[in-house]
Amino acid sequence: VNHHPQVHHTKNGTPYLREPGVVLLSVPSVQLAGLSGFLSGFDADLGFMDYVTDPVDLPSAEELCKLAGQLCYLSFGPSRTKNAEAEKYFQNILASGHGSVLEHANFTFLVYGIDRACTHEWVRHRAGWAYSQVSQRYVDGSALRFVERPSFAADPELHRMFEERIDREAREYDDIAARLQEVRKEELAAMPKRDARKLVNQDARSCLTNETEAPLIVTANVRAWRHFAEMRAAKSADVGIRRPAVMVAQSLREQAPLFFGEYEPDGDALKGAHRKV
Ligand SMILES: Cc1cc2nc3c(=O)[nH]c(=O)nc-3n(C[C@H](O)[C@H](O)[C@H](O)COP(=O)(O)OP(=O)(O)OC[C@H]3O[C@@H](n4cnc5c(N)ncnc54)[C@H](O)[C@@H]3O)c2cc1C
Repeated sequence: VNHHPQVHHTKNGTPYLREPGVVLLSVPSVQLAGLSGFLSGFDADLGFMDYVTDPVDLPSAEELCKLAGQLCYLSFGPSRTKNAEAEKYFQNILASGHGSVLEHANFTFLVYGIDRACTHEWVRHRAGWAYSQVSQRYVDGSALRFVERPSFAADPELHRMFEERIDREAREYDDIAARLQEVRKEELAAMPKRDARKLVNQDARSCLTNETEAPLIVTANVRAWRHFAEMRAAKSADVGIRRPAVMVAQSLREQAPLFFGEYEPDGDALKGAHRKV
């Protein structure tokens, strides 16, 4: 499920990555036991208690979304769609575009080895998303890393230019920070350390390019992840975001096959059957 890429270094020691790192941090957890108190309050003839004794287990995201969908029609009795028929149930949801029930299940990933250009595109996805991103004001140059695009890694001249550029950027960052600390010495000494650090770093980061690594912790619900896979794991997406999007979608396929199983390889991209559920 998780992928940790190698960290490379230039001859001068500037660290960089060539692939995204993807770590699944959190999946839904469903507690069906509590449902009995609700279902037992209905007329016993309706047979609603049948729901909690369904013999087929589903992965947690599918269990949760099926429960949410079946609440809509109080479909808890023996004639309901059983867990064994969950695939048919969700195919119907996907085909009819009733995607709101997919919003109950959330998955969280740590994604690193991605650059600032990638995260700038990623954070445009708003509906159903939560983000935490490394602060370039709080974190100084000591943890600075870069991301090399596949086309640069594939060509000796572009690779040489890349290494030269990131060495220069790392050096310039330190030079700017050192100069600011010198010329604003008194002002910085008079403020809380944390504010002083931000004041220096926010200026120093100006010399960093889109190639700067920008790790994210990102949470989204199933409906939002599906839309993301459709837009960003597609052939038309920039390789910078397509590669982590494909890796995340593959991880989600393992966690919730009924929701993400439709995303099939399409060259180095993915393609799904349903549009914008
Ligand atoms: C190949 C590609 C090229 C792109 N090029 C550019 C570009 O040149 N310039 C640029 O600025 N952006 C560009 N984008 C970004 C794109 O326009 C979207 O901002 C981004 O993909 C987020 O998708 P989304 O709008 O569907 O938002 P999401 O937050 O993922 O929302 C999902 C869906 O929810 C609904 N929704 C969300 N918010 C609202 C709202 N406020 N009101 C009504 N409905 C809402 C919409 O139906 C939306 O599609 C590009 C995206 C791709 C994939």
